Amino acid sequence: MQTNMLINGELVAGEGTSLPVYNPHNGQEIVRLAQASEQQTKQAVDLAHKAFTDWGQTTPKTRSELLLALAERIERNAEALAKLESLNCGKPFHLALGDEIPAVADVFRYFAGASRCLNGLASGEYLTGHTSMIRRDPLGVIASIAPWNYPLMMAAWKIAPALAAGNCVVIKPSEITPLTALKLGELAQDLFPAGVLNVLFGDGQTVGNALTHHDKVRMISLTGSVATGEKIVAQATSGIKRTHMELGGKAPVIVFDDADIDQVVEGVRTFGFYNAGQDCTAACRLYVQKGVYARLVNALGEAVSTLKLGTDESAEMGPLVSAAHLERVEGFVQRAKQQAHIQVVTGGERVRGEGYYFQPTVLAGARQEDEIVQREVFGPVVSITEFDTEEQVLDWANESNYGLASSVWTQNIGRAHRLSARLQYGCTWVNTHFMLVSEMPHGGQKQSGYGKDMSMYGLEDYTAIRHVMIKH
Ligand code: NAD
Repeated sequence: MQTNMLINGELVAGEGTSLPVYNPHNGQEIVRLAQASEQQTKQAVDLAHKAFTDWGQTTPKTRSELLLALAERIERNAEALAKLESLNCGKPFHLALGDEIPAVADVFRYFAGASRCLNGLASGEYLTGHTSMIRRDPLGVIASIAPWNYPLMMAAWKIAPALAAGNCVVIKPSEITPLTALKLGELAQDLFPAGVLNVLFGDGQTVGNALTHHDKVRMISLTGSVATGEKIVAQATSGIKRTHMELGGKAPVIVFDDADIDQVVEGVRTFGFYNAGQDCTAACRLYVQKGVYARLVNALGEAVSTLKLGTDESAEMGPLVSAAHLERVEGFVQRAKQQAHIQVVTGGERVRGEGYYFQPTVLAGARQEDEIVQREVFGPVVSITEFDTEEQVLDWANESNYGLASSVWTQNIGRAHRLSARLQYGCTWVNTHFMLVSEMPHGGQKQSGYGKDMSMYGLEDYTAIRHVMIKH
């Protein structure tokens, strides 16, 4: 198992204090890893800064070819990567292999192509005797900080656009799930010039903090919680660093009387519980119109109770990522159960025995002001709230600190357009949920953050717009 970090093209062990890395399927320690020391963190940024002098001048073609080569290595090592992701993060192996690793390779392939399409938008003679051109140039060293829910995918979302645009990257995966990002460092070691890509191991308070405070970091790109986002944005004011924030979510799923209920049930069963609901876009906050409320509650409860937990080929859902997170999710459900108006339709308990499993849970009768409707649980828990009118549900859906993803389920095309235009979310799906592709932007509003992952917008986020004016 690759457990070394990548600093300046060398695979090196950490020199800081060590942390255990666990297997959420059984709670056992997989390995104990030494974190990067403060000195190593500083060195990684300094050397990335040095590497930027040449890397920042490479052609898009060069960068594109290297990103394509990395995509190929990811595909060739798909089984090993999927095994590590399952071991460390709890995903059923076949889902990691079938869904996630191909999507990771696709992100590198997309940005390999996108790199060659990154053009300045305008040029021309706006002042007599002068010609202007717009350049999009890289920024320098990007500090990327990733979460634990899709460890390799989140690393890809950060690394690929930043390198494609000509920046150097120092990435710190979550200390809970570092194994696939470290493996990615190994796969990339001899591809990129030394210092262009660096992968560190460590927690937020020590390594993350040292990384984001370094004065040569030009931009901090975080995917994580709102609390961490607030800290990092505050830190970034010193040195006026650019920030890119992909934070939490609490996606409203609005189901009208005219929706195809079988389709809704299938959609929520899949997209409310994929990755054990540990997904910032999870279909977790259902608003269901009165005419279909009772039918949907029953049908969804029945469907969700058949979800298969475990690790084998038929498993649809794995455990939660850690003991602490299991306790957090359980706390939300216990507090919800204490409210007389909430009914547990299915689930509601942790699974006794090995591993950090929690039953797929549906809670009906939830009210707009309830904690379970307002706060991000980040687990296999869906709440259902009944609504009456379109205006009421629009208010409720928008009455949230979050603004990442939403969905509307209706056969009425006019209504679908009306709501899509007025929902304050980075994404609205109609009659589906959760579908993402590399070409389309992903990112939030309000406390879900700002900046886009994936798409040309994501690539542009990692560039500076520059104006050059030439006197004839
Ligand atoms: P987290 O905020 O606890 O940690 C995220 C990363 O930040 C980790 O690598 C952590 O070590 C680091 N970190 C923590 N404190 C830091 C500090 N002071 N300085 C620098 N780095 C620091 O989040 P998590 O628990 O790993 O992930 C779950 C959260 O991520 C959820 O809120 C989820 O919604 C969000 N998320 C958002 C998206 C999105 O695209 N918007 C995608 C996935 C996850």
